[in-house]
Amino acid sequence: MNGLRLLNPGPVTLTPRVRDALAGPDLCHREPEFFDMQDRIRARLLAVYDNDGATWAPVLISGSGTSAVEAMIASLPGPNDKLLVIENGVYGERMTRMAEVHGIAHVAWHLAWGQAIDDRQLAKMIQAHAPTHVAVVHHETTTGRLNDIAAIAAVCETRGVALLVDAVSSFGAEAIAFAPAVSAVAATANKCLHGAPGAAFVIVRHSALADATTRALYLDLAGYAAKQAERGTPFTPGIPAFYGLDAALAEHAEAGGWPVRRTHYRALADQVGDGLAARGITEIVAREAVSCVLRSYRLPSGVSYARLHDHLKQAGFVIYAGQGALADDIFRISTMGDLDTRDMAELLAAFDEIIAP
Ligand SMILES: *Cc1c(COP(=O)(O)O)cnc(C)c1O
Repeated sequence: MNGLRLLNPGPVTLTPRVRDALAGPDLCHREPEFFDMQDRIRARLLAVYDNDGATWAPVLISGSGTSAVEAMIASLPGPNDKLLVIENGVYGERMTRMAEVHGIAHVAWHLAWGQAIDDRQLAKMIQAHAPTHVAVVHHETTTGRLNDIAAIAAVCETRGVALLVDAVSSFGAEAIAFAPAVSAVAATANKCLHGAPGAAFVIVRHSALADATTRALYLDLAGYAAKQAERGTPFTPGIPAFYGLDAALAEHAEAGGWPVRRTHYRALADQVGDGLAARGITEIVAREAVSCVLRSYRLPSGVSYARLHDHLKQAGFVIYAGQGALADDIFRISTMGDLDTRDMAELLAAFDEIIAP
């Protein structure tokens, strides 16, 4: 352990309990000990948002968050279906790439990064293109914007369209509306749940799984679901990541679940945001539209990202660059992981050494 505190949007700074769990016993994935853990993780994933197992299936996949999102996109629209992808950041655009790669009929609704999704415009897009499915990112980590899943799901419901949600960087810390139109929500262990990278998952309706399609061998969502429902697994899972997720989910529940985590993240983010504002550094997304998880800040004039990054790393913190066109203009700070107000106070003190207060 090098003691760096990670302010990038996952992987996160682990708690000692989760770190210790990663080095659990050697285990064969065809033995009951593994299936006991898999069953426990699946039940705990449903419990995070009080989802009923009669309606929802928790499906585990060994891979990064993208593997869960791709399994959802590649499996749920059928051969005659059409997907409307809402893009207002990198991760929405990535879902469009998935539709292209898997040969899914699709339309991309492209918005500027960070732009709000307007309900009436969405209704018009659905009317114009007649999709069967809409895909959207809940928390667009590109900027920090939190898209309103409840409002989007309401528009989808009135038009009989199924909604697929990338909640990779919000699951476990934001409210998620598992509304009637929502067919599936994809997420990962190593963001707001505070597990390690390598375990991802989709919470999917049984009714959507019944109509699922196989477009990829490894990312066949219904294949995983069928095996896991009967204490099986199609392939070798990332067992250490599962150990970590199991411990992380226990810790998450014991601490009070997502509302407590949201309050904690937000308090840290406000501390950083207020502290940076006092130093002349501004946020790019309005506070009422930003997630509790991550905020984007304008780089102070005369300070390059590389210099800021390297200075803060010397002080023990890893911040995150902007993507694409934002790379020269912004930096990002996530407050996920095992961090507290003292860490944030130290971070602000480190800023003082590089910018004139
Ligand atoms: C992190 C993230 C992903 C997945 O990224 P991986 O590198 O595959 O874990 C997908 N969507 C969003 C919104 C994310 O923040």
